[in-house]
Amino acid sequence: MTLTLTDVTLTYPDGDARLTALDHVSLEVPAGTLTAVVGPSGSGKSSLLAVAATLVTPDRGRVVVAGTETAGLSRSEKTDLRRERIGIVFQQPNLLPSLTAAEQLQVMAHLSGGSVRDARIRALDLLDAVGLADKADRRPHQLSGGQRQRVNIARALMNEPAVLLVDEPTSALDHERGAAVLDLLLGLTRQRSTATVLVTHDRAHLDRVDGTATMNDGRLAVPAPA
Ligand code: ADP
Ligand code: MG
Repeated sequence: MTLTLTDVTLTYPDGDARLTALDHVSLEVPAGTLTAVVGPSGSGKSSLLAVAATLVTPDRGRVVVAGTETAGLSRSEKTDLRRERIGIVFQQPNLLPSLTAAEQLQVMAHLSGGSVRDARIRALDLLDAVGLADKADRRPHQLSGGQRQRVNIARALMNEPAVLLVDEPTSALDHERGAAVLDLLLGLTRQRSTATVLVTHDRAHLDRVDGTATMNDGRLAVPAPA
């Protein structure tokens, strides 16, 4: 299932005027592919993810998430869509301090009302997929920054989302670990057939992704398919 943004414009109030954060942005991300979005700070990258995540409603344009047209949805329908179809990884891994790595994931399943046993199995499988099979019972303070970020990524995949949105996961990490996170996200994208958008400052290693779009002043330049 695909993520499609068509001619999306988003403005924020800015004194008596409006600030254009997204300016006629179009982007199509097929299932099983990863598109990187690069661009300077303040160019609109996080706004793009917020719109794709249905957290922010654009002034104009269409956002279709895994076949669902989001324009007409109520607030609670959007919440359901997010919970069932969209995995979101924010810049700061906001893990709950008192929960183990596996429990951070299990909470997600609990919110959507699955069985505890199934959730445990899926949580352990995902922790294995992100290379943390032996860290399932550690709490956040017992993990490194990179390991916490991987728990964060695994948690976003817990409800088997069609769309995975990741905001600058490498900004807090060094270059080498940034490459490892990119590899991990590429592998998960293929394996779980997510339509993945990765916002990143780190332009290294991007030759391996399926597409790189560049954001400047709210405008997204998407290279023509090869
Ligand atoms: P990036 O993620 O590329 O740094 P953002 O999407 O965060 O860019 O921001 C794009 C522009 O929109 C910036 O000028 C920023 O100041 C502005 N902006 C972002 N969020 C808000 C908001 N909630 N209210 C007003 N302006 C915002
Ligand atoms: Mg940002």
